Amino acid sequence: MTGRTHDAIAFASLITVANYYPPTNLNFLTLVACLIGTTIGALSPDLDQATNRLWHFLPGGNFTGRLLQPLFLGHRNLSHSLVGVYLYHKVLLWLLPHILNGNFVNTYLIYGSIIIGYISHLIADSVTEEGLPLFFPFKFKVGFPPVASWRIKTDHWFEHLVVLPGTLVYLTWFVIRHREQLVSVLRLINS
Ligand SMILES: [Zn+2]
Repeated sequence: MTGRTHDAIAFASLITVANYYPPTNLNFLTLVACLIGTTIGALSPDLDQATNRLWHFLPGGNFTGRLLQPLFLGHRNLSHSLVGVYLYHKVLLWLLPHILNGNFVNTYLIYGSIIIGYISHLIADSVTEEGLPLFFPFKFKVGFPPVASWRIKTDHWFEHLVVLPGTLVYLTWFVIRHREQLVSVLRLINS
């Protein structure tokens, strides 16, 4: 899937989770950080590609990307596996308290938003032709449906004309249907 589709699916996932597992407290800074965090999480598994948008925010940009790429052990390998999710979660638990001030933002909610973005990326990739090396270092890939040729081709018409618009339709429907609950989450900001 392309970065744009991953962004949309991650945002829809965040709204869905926020509706069913609403936070008990929320401030404006945390909300903004959660939204940015979801995008970062959604783009992180593809950091194994030097052209990933996230590299533009780091010094050296694509060059840094190319330097660090060997750490990912190839495209759609470590970062698209259960071991990758575990390592990413460990890095976040260490990193977030070092870079965020817990007096101003709820680091737990931000951590959750990043993980939601990351996992939504893996779920979205599992319906693409390439499949997921979920059990890396074992080589076999998993996907849904099990027959690879029935799955979606990344950056082809089905993604652009069905998956992305479908995600936006779902998001609109979900927000309208659950507007009261979602508004009560936003009201936490002023309380
Ligand atoms: Zn991916």
